[in-house]
Amino acid sequence: MKDCIFCKIIEKKIPANIIYEDEYFLAFHDIKPAAPIHLLIIPKKHIESLKNTHQNDEIWLGKMLLLIPKIAFANGCKSGIDGGFRIINNCGAAAGQEVPHLHFHILGGFGT
Ligand code: 5GP
Ligand code: ZN
Repeated sequence: MKDCIFCKIIEKKIPANIIYEDEYFLAFHDIKPAAPIHLLIIPKKHIESLKNTHQNDEIWLGKMLLLIPKIAFANGCKSGIDGGFRIINNCGAAAGQEVPHLHFHILGGFGT
């Protein structure tokens, strides 16, 4: 969508440190990390937030969630019994969502 910063990253119109890409999703480093590892995963289809999803989005939403640990562990989040990561989704401007293109934050690298 025009004027959407994350759509511009998808279209490679503005640069980002991309760490994963397939037909449906893109993941990249957050420009202003709030943790030692701070990644963002987005769908390539422009959807504002989880508030704008419907029952027929269940398959790609499930795929997106299943990708999160794979991307986290491939990018430095510790796996195993003492490892882990945090995911955050700000849903709506009232909840602090600044970029109106659905994204999950993946935060990790704690205590490493
Ligand atoms: P929100 O507050 O919408 O949940 O999170 C938006 C996130 O996108 C913020 O953590 C912010 O640092 C990140 N961000 C905003 N603009 C850019 C950008 O141009 N490039 C990258 N890599 N991250 C961005
Ligand atoms: Zn967008």
